Amino acid sequence: MAAPWAVLRQCPLLLPQNREGTAYEGFLTAQGRDFHVRILLPMDFQLKNARIECSWHLKKILHGYQHILKQRLHSCPDLVSFLVELKTVMEIALKNTPELHIPRPPEYYSCLVRDIEILGWNKVAYVDTGLTTVKLKAEDSCGRQHLITLKLNAKYPTEPPDCLVDFPVQFAVSWMPQNSLIDIHSQFLAALESLKEFWDAMDEIDGNTWVLEPENPTRSATTRRIAIGSNVSVNIEVDPRHPNMLPECYFLGADHVVNPLRIKLNNNMHLWDPEISLLQNLKDVLEIDFPSRAVLEKSDFTKDCGICYAYRLDGTIPDQVCDDPRCGQPFHQACLYEWLQGLPSSRQSFNVIFGECPYCNKPLTLKSSMKKL
Ligand SMILES: [Zn+2]
Ligand SMILES: [Zn+2]
Repeated sequence: MAAPWAVLRQCPLLLPQNREGTAYEGFLTAQGRDFHVRILLPMDFQLKNARIECSWHLKKILHGYQHILKQRLHSCPDLVSFLVELKTVMEIALKNTPELHIPRPPEYYSCLVRDIEILGWNKVAYVDTGLTTVKLKAEDSCGRQHLITLKLNAKYPTEPPDCLVDFPVQFAVSWMPQNSLIDIHSQFLAALESLKEFWDAMDEIDGNTWVLEPENPTRSATTRRIAIGSNVSVNIEVDPRHPNMLPECYFLGADHVVNPLRIKLNNNMHLWDPEISLLQNLKDVLEIDFPSRAVLEKSDFTKDCGICYAYRLDGTIPDQVCDDPRCGQPFHQACLYEWLQGLPSSRQSFNVIFGECPYCNKPLTLKSSMKKL
């Protein structure tokens, strides 16, 4: 056990609460601030069974460090050496939570409130109780609503806030110490207009086709996997700066359906016209009409995997299809990989596995992008 005087020397504000030396209460100092703690040791002084109680404030600061502290409780020979470790962890944690340990000067609050008033409270979507996080809202010229999250540090307005946006491109504010929230808001609006064409193109696709992935596209998502037919889809990667240019296209589905589409894309590429919309261009060069949302259900395209009988598996959807036109059964890549690995007749060459379809026994190849292959 640690002698109470040794504890006292290490942490002068932490006082023994009983004669046995199993309970201590008081304050631990870190970064010049005192935090209320209570330490309860079991009768056998086994540190690993100790109970550490602290204020919610310290708990919040130490959030994410619990596993380190638990490990230290197991490895430290006595309470004093644990207290040394605890103080080190507190110092590190406090340094990593700047908004908690730097008290903000009154000017910070008066300046921020004044800036919000100049901007107008109607443009504020959210303010946290500590006045350190502010969300501003803005509407682009097409009526889409957008949010920008500002994390203000104690040196605001000398230093700019960190800005978080849901954009497909980087957004950096240009900032001078005399700037205020109104400048950020106007830069945000300008950035929204520069992305208008991109969102127009994506909205047209989302509204008129069956997008299989992502399930709920965010404003920053630049890819769409669009259903073309049962088990056939195209994945497009759109350049947010040039949304009406020919995007990168990857077809997914059985060869006999996908190959003619690839040929059409190659032959008609020259017809691509940046003056007309992305969706119309895709229809023109592929010579198809995408299945309409008005007529068909999403379930018409989302056939479950033939091995695990589910549609979504760890965020993936069945994107491997049996090439036999009469079968066409889709599988998850991971499921098919495991299945083919287990078959003695399968053989592998680089990242391609040759085997048999679990459904129709016809030859089947798995071209895998999986790392473990
Ligand atoms: Zn599966
Ligand atoms: Zn098959």
